Amino acid sequence: MAVDLFSDYTMTINGRAVDSDRRFDAINPATEEVIASVPDASRADLDAAVAAAKAAFGPWSARPLAERQAMVARLGQIIRDHAEDFMRLLTLEQGKARQGAEWEIGGSAIWCDEIAKQQLELHVAEKSETRTVETRRVPVGVVGAITPWNFPLLLAIWKIAPALVAGNTMVLKPSPYTPLCTLKFGELARELLPPGVLNIVSGGNEPGAWLVQHPDVNKISFTGSTATGRKIMESASGNLKRITLELGGNDPAIVMPDVDVKETAKQLFWGAFQNSAQFCVAAKRLYVHEDIYDSFAEELVSYARTVQVGDGSEQGVELGPIQNKMQFEKLKNLLADAREQGLKFRLGGEIPAGKGYFVPITIIDNPPENSRVVVEEAFGPVLPLLKFRDLDDVIARANDTEYGLAASVWSRDVEQARAIAERIEAGTVWINEIHSFSPHVAFGGHKQSGIGIENALEGLAEYTNAQTIVLSRAE
Ligand code: NAD
Repeated sequence: MAVDLFSDYTMTINGRAVDSDRRFDAINPATEEVIASVPDASRADLDAAVAAAKAAFGPWSARPLAERQAMVARLGQIIRDHAEDFMRLLTLEQGKARQGAEWEIGGSAIWCDEIAKQQLELHVAEKSETRTVETRRVPVGVVGAITPWNFPLLLAIWKIAPALVAGNTMVLKPSPYTPLCTLKFGELARELLPPGVLNIVSGGNEPGAWLVQHPDVNKISFTGSTATGRKIMESASGNLKRITLELGGNDPAIVMPDVDVKETAKQLFWGAFQNSAQFCVAAKRLYVHEDIYDSFAEELVSYARTVQVGDGSEQGVELGPIQNKMQFEKLKNLLADAREQGLKFRLGGEIPAGKGYFVPITIIDNPPENSRVVVEEAFGPVLPLLKFRDLDDVIARANDTEYGLAASVWSRDVEQARAIAERIEAGTVWINEIHSFSPHVAFGGHKQSGIGIENALEGLAEYTNAQTIVLSRAE
């Protein structure tokens, strides 16, 4: 049956469409218009979803791995078959422009393909005629997944694909700001997956909290803010749930004086402002060596002036609005604070009049290290450019944060750049590039940017428990 991605949003519980009396609106952030009405899950809906996942777990985990892998690969094909509609819907609900939508929807399909090829090997610690010691990996059971609003489908797939390949079943709750692509993905998956294997419930923060507390949920995989991550860690302790937390970041970029200034400024423009800087791993503090600081700032500003910000559905637009009013208000407040502190704007800073949650590309000139624009994760296009002279000093400043998600170092001297990278406290450090991700490369935060890993075999292993079997052969 053909599925219309642009109307009739229902939850998926036990393989069936489930509606709710209570509903909430999805808003197009570029126009502030209501684009859809979405079911708001009740406690009974959430309980039904967990019960369905629990009932489906036995048969699903007993299926041969190759069958589960093939189904996850077919989920990728489902995304490809509907790619054009998914891209349009993603732009409508999230705000991102065409290129960003292509990256996210294309990436979601690729992740399904590639995670479907992964498997965890049996580890044989000892094998003799009389004794075998082996550790195998078994699924944890019901996984609760909770996702944010910046990359709603891709970050959901990062959880769904490995959880299902490893033999788990899932209840996933998307962000209330961006539920549409995820709900439609759930609807399409109904035709493929056995009932109960993947349940999607929409709602505010409350169903998320119920999921985390639920005694029949064995693991939580969460992507979102550090503040929510802390709450989840606390309330997941009731039944000692396994947790994977992908949280916030305040990523430094260190630009050495030997770089090609124009080219690096362009790359770091996108490193900082991609997805209108609503990116956990956006370069959020740019430390530029004093010898090139002014020329770098000029190149960055002049490149920024060529980039069109607007409604992501319009041709030629490269950066869309802020995704929701709550984040928009936060950014307005941050800009007001920057003005009150007398910080110098190299570009932007003024919110345009009119509809839509638009924040202009804003570059702030060498603010004090303790100013809010430096210390806080802006999660929007407000970027501090910071000057440095001494390497030890800049490394200390780069590390002086509760976060440790990612970082980048830019230099022609790759030996020195690598030495710098090794001193940065972050889960990923890119050198002379930024934002390359792979289903086969581990990604995760240090410090308060998270716990655990997504992607790669380490990420797959997080959806399992180790089971060691020690076998003696009687004489
Ligand atoms: P958020 O923490 O406000 O919300 C994320 C999700 O958690 C939503 O679905 C929300 O409804 C749910 N939630 C809120 N309170 C909850 C509770 N008490 N219990 C259970 N669930 C609850 O985050 P956000 O504003 O949607 O996302 C932005 C944040 O996500 C930024 O800090 C960003 O850096 C981070 N992020 C991190 C990564 C990463 O991989 N590390 C990726 C993307 C975004």
